[in-house]
Amino acid sequence: MPKLLVRKRVITHSERPWAFCRKYQRFLGVYAEDPESGLYFCEFTSATIRMRIGRAFFGLPEQLQRLCLQYQVTFSACPGWTVNGNSSTLYADFNESRKERVSPHIEMSLRSLSDELISPHLTHEASHIWWRHQTAERRRAYCQFLVASSNADTVEVSDYVQEFFRDWRRSLEIPDSEGYAKPHRACYLEQWVEESFCDTVAKLLVPGYRSQWSGSTVDLELRRHKIRELMLLEL
Ligand SMILES: [Zn+2]
Repeated sequence: MPKLLVRKRVITHSERPWAFCRKYQRFLGVYAEDPESGLYFCEFTSATIRMRIGRAFFGLPEQLQRLCLQYQVTFSACPGWTVNGNSSTLYADFNESRKERVSPHIEMSLRSLSDELISPHLTHEASHIWWRHQTAERRRAYCQFLVASSNADTVEVSDYVQEFFRDWRRSLEIPDSEGYAKPHRACYLEQWVEESFCDTVAKLLVPGYRSQWSGSTVDLELRRHKIRELMLLEL
């Protein structure tokens, strides 16, 4: 059998300026195209992991797949926590004006690669790309919807997002007279809204995801509708 030609990309600081930071330097180097999925993986990634991620990738909504390919997202796997200390992490710099230098990379731990978690975790990370790719106006409109549709009794879609929601609610209790009140609230709000968006997309795509988390008060159908209307993503 003729050997399949494998295309390679050598990623340096010029394409991935965010990897100047020492801890991210491991995300530079050689990435090889997986012939089945067309995705680029760190050259040390095993064929089994490439196949698992490739299959999960094909399960993503087409809009998410297209956007990932447009940004030429790269992948790697790690045995324990990711460099940022999560099960999976998206790294990218959306402040870059040129798309090639945004250079998104998804790192997935072996935990995330389990049968149960691979699809929702990949969906969550790809949703970060969708979120950041949209205009500030769209993100603001979705943020306004989330704030208007929540109150002190809201229970988010997952324990993970609930933590971010709780932090934002707590920041509302900082007295207005404190100089740090406004930036703190803005920062916690931004984190909650983005993580909530990503985990909601994952939950809508994989209904069994976070099934051990009961008591969520979120109206998932309303969120599905608003994600389509405000963030242009069909789920
Ligand atoms: Zn996230």
